[in-house]
Amino acid sequence: MTFLKFLKNSHTKTHILTFNMGAIVLKSLEEIELIRESALIVSRTLGVLASEIKPGITSLKLDKIAETYIRDQGAEPGFLGLYDFPNTLCVSPNAHVVHGIPNDTPLKEGDIISIDCGVLKNGFYGDHAYTFAVGNIDPKIEKLLIVSKASLYEGIRSFKEGNRIGDLGYKIQSFCEDKGYGVVRELVGHGLGMVMHEGPEVPNYGKRGTGKKFVDGMVLAIEPMINQGTHRIKQLKDGWTILTADGKASAHFEHNVALIDGKPELLSSFQYIYSGLGIISDEEDGLRKNPLVL
Ligand code: MG
Ligand code: MG
Repeated sequence: MTFLKFLKNSHTKTHILTFNMGAIVLKSLEEIELIRESALIVSRTLGVLASEIKPGITSLKLDKIAETYIRDQGAEPGFLGLYDFPNTLCVSPNAHVVHGIPNDTPLKEGDIISIDCGVLKNGFYGDHAYTFAVGNIDPKIEKLLIVSKASLYEGIRSFKEGNRIGDLGYKIQSFCEDKGYGVVRELVGHGLGMVMHEGPEVPNYGKRGTGKKFVDGMVLAIEPMINQGTHRIKQLKDGWTILTADGKASAHFEHNVALIDGKPELLSSFQYIYSGLGIISDEEDGLRKNPLVL
């Protein structure tokens, strides 16, 4: 789930949802392992969903599959009831950016759908997201997905000793804007731990050399939300769903990352999704001290 920093669309004034951002809490290596455990339950949940996502399935059905799987792992859905969110998954098709509520509309060929999932286990949260293609999609939309995901890894690789929050945001923003895409401003990434939204705020835009310095023990949810057109957004009257102001598509990719010995350590993984879809990827190489056992 993303952190809603501000929202100023005048027509949705009465539906503004405000989250409280907690303090920055540095984690011990033991605590980081507990966050990894929760993050990997999310990763495996997304892996299960990957093989279910096809034309005809509804997001409500995906939500039930995810909830059952998470509970079977001895964990709890992290979003269900959080700020009164009604479901396990945030599901955001096409022009929806984030925080969509599952419904009974079947997905159709050519759709994309961003799925954001949270898990709570041993008192620690995992929280990450992936944008899936439903069947064959327009090459222009496919490019949006490729660039958005690549921008996430650009952000992750700048989460290192000597850098600051602004360096990470600058990296994601310049990477995406250079290719003509819009970077959402009102929603940001966040620290993650015993609270879903801890400090610091992690914007996907920024100025180099500004903001908080990265230090060992920080755990971040880094999550670019990238629009095909304008960066501007609006919110539906349900008080949750965020969509693009121009109706063009939006993508959302999120990983959980710890800073250990000055380097980013990936806690979540997309490899479960890829193994379900038969995709080979080296994008996570070098971001983990010990290889992931699938
Ligand atoms: Mg999330
Ligand atoms: Mg998040």
